[in-house]
Amino acid sequence: MQIIIIGAGVIGAAIARELSRYDIDIKLLEKEPDVADGTSKANSGIIHAGYNADANTLKGTMNVKSNPTYDQLCEDLKVPFKRNGSLVVGFNDEDLKKLKVKKENGEKNGIEGLEILNREELFKKEPNINKKAQYALYAPSAGIISPYELTIGYADNAVRNGAEVLLNTEVEDLIIKEGKVTGVITNRGNYQADLVINSAGLYSDKVAKMAGDKFEITPRKGEYHLFDKVHGDLVNNTLFPMPTEKSKGILVLPTVHGNLLIGPNANIIDDKNDFSTTSDGLEKVFEGAKKLVPSVPEDGIITSFSGLRASLPSNDFHIGFSENKKALINLVGIQSPGLSSAPAIAEKITEMVNQYFKNNNMEIKLKDDFIENNPSYPHYHRYEENDEVEKWQNVVEKNEDYGEIICRCEHVSRGEIIDAIHRPVPARTIDAIKRRTRASSGRCQAGFCGPRILNILSNQLDIDPLEVTKKGRDSKILKAKSKELIIKDINEEDNVGDKNESI
Ligand SMILES: Cc1cc2nc3c(=O)[nH]c(=O)nc-3n(C[C@H](O)[C@H](O)[C@H](O)COP(=O)(O)OP(=O)(O)OC[C@H]3O[C@@H](n4cnc5c(N)ncnc54)[C@H](O)[C@@H]3O)c2cc1C
Repeated sequence: MQIIIIGAGVIGAAIARELSRYDIDIKLLEKEPDVADGTSKANSGIIHAGYNADANTLKGTMNVKSNPTYDQLCEDLKVPFKRNGSLVVGFNDEDLKKLKVKKENGEKNGIEGLEILNREELFKKEPNINKKAQYALYAPSAGIISPYELTIGYADNAVRNGAEVLLNTEVEDLIIKEGKVTGVITNRGNYQADLVINSAGLYSDKVAKMAGDKFEITPRKGEYHLFDKVHGDLVNNTLFPMPTEKSKGILVLPTVHGNLLIGPNANIIDDKNDFSTTSDGLEKVFEGAKKLVPSVPEDGIITSFSGLRASLPSNDFHIGFSENKKALINLVGIQSPGLSSAPAIAEKITEMVNQYFKNNNMEIKLKDDFIENNPSYPHYHRYEENDEVEKWQNVVEKNEDYGEIICRCEHVSRGEIIDAIHRPVPARTIDAIKRRTRASSGRCQAGFCGPRILNILSNQLDIDPLEVTKKGRDSKILKAKSKELIIKDINEEDNVGDKNESI
C-alpha cells in the first residue's frame, strides 16, 4: 500500500511517524529544503493545557487528548520539553469572572489541576509580573517545546521506520482517475498512491482545490522578539493576558532552551510569503508584553521573526475526506493549537486510514519491528542544562570532533554539526543545522560560526563552498572565490580603462 503525505510540518511529520507503525510505503513530500520550514518553525512553542477551546470543537478535543502524551513522546523522540505551567493574568473583578468561566470550560474538557490564584500566590510564582495584577488562571500541565525539533524528531523516526522524506519536492497537481486521486505530479516527477493526505499548512487550500474542494485560508501574521538567554529567567511560566476575540494576546514566556520570547500580535495579511517584521508590529508586541511584565528589557534582543497562522472562517481545524474525490484526506486550518494537537491529529488520521482501507477491502498490518525511540545524539548544551559538563569529556574521548566548539554562543561542537548532516532527515543548509543543533541561534546570529558551519557542510557533502545555502534555493552565502573576485575586479578596471580610452 502506498500513501503520500503532502507537507512536512509538524502535522505531516507526526502522521508519517504514526503511519510508519504499519506495513505501508510512505512518502512525505516537502517543497522546501528541510522539514519544519513552514509555520512549524515560527510559533510560540507552547503545548497548551487546552482550556481555551470548546470541547465540541476539533481544536478542543485534539489539544486535550494530546497534552498528557507529550512527556513520553518527547522522551522517545529525544525532543526538549518542559511543563513550565501557564498563567492567564487578570487585573480586575471583571477579568476574574472570565477566568472562572475559562476554568469551568477547562474542567469540562477534563483538564486537571486548574487553579485560580490570588495576588499573593501569583507573585510567589512570578515576582516580576505587573504589580497591578490581581488574579490568574494557573494551568500546571501547559508546557514549552522546541517546535522544529519536534517536527524533525517525528520525521527522523518515520524514516527510521521505513518512510521516505522527499525534500525540495513540490506537489503541483493531483493525478485523478475516475473520481479518485491516484497520485501526485511534482516538480521532480510523478508518484502513485493508494491514498493522499494533504497537510500542506498555509497551502492546504491550494492542494484541496486540485481535487475541487473549496477552502479559503487567510494568513494571520504573528510577530515576535527573541531575547538573549541572560533574560531567560525573567518569567517562569508562560504568561497570557486576557484573550480577545481575535487571539490569545501577546505573551511573555521562557523558551525551552532558556531564552525569553515575547509576542505574537495578530494581523491579517494577503501574501502567504510575507514573513517580514514591521517596526509598528514589534512596537505593539513590546507594549503588550510590558503590560504583563513592565521590566521586559529594551536591549538583549537577538532576533525578531514572524509566523503565519492558517485561519479558516470556522476558526476550527478541518479534518476530513475530500468531498469531491476519493482517496484524499484534507487537513485545513490547522492553526493554534495545532502544535499541541499533533499527536492526537496523527492518531485520528491513522484511524481514518485504517477505516478507509477496510472499507475498500484492503488491509494494513502493524509492523512487529517498529522502532519507538530515536537515538540520543550528544549535545553539549544538554549536558550543561543537567549540570553534567564533566561527563562531556567521555564523549570527546570517543570522538575528538566533539571537543572543537564551532558555535561559541550556544556551545555547539563540530561533532554535533556532523551528526546533523548525517541524521535520517539530513541537514543540508545552515538553517537546517541551526534547527538540529542550535549552532548560529545565539547572540552573534552566525557572525562567528557561520563560515565554519559552511566549511563543514562543504567538506562533509563534498560540494563547493559556493554551493552552500542558508535555506536552499537562491540563498547562497558566498558569491565567488576571493582570488577570482580580485582578478575580476582587475579585469573590470582594465575594461573601464579601455572603454574610457575608446570614448
Ligand atoms: C504566530 C503563531 C503562533 C503559534 N503558537 C502556537 C503554540 O504556541 N502552540 C500551538 O499548539 N500551536 C501554535 N501555533 C500553530 C502551529 O504552529 C500550527 O498549528 C502548526 O505548526 C501547523 O503545522 P502544519 O504541519 O499544519 O503546517 P506547516 O508547518 O506550515 O507545514 C506545512 C508544510 O507543507 C509544505 N507545503 C505546502 N505546499 C506544498 C506543496 N504543494 N508540496 C509540498 N509541500 C508543500 C510547506 O512548505 C510546509 O512545510 C502557532 C502558529 C502561529 C503562526
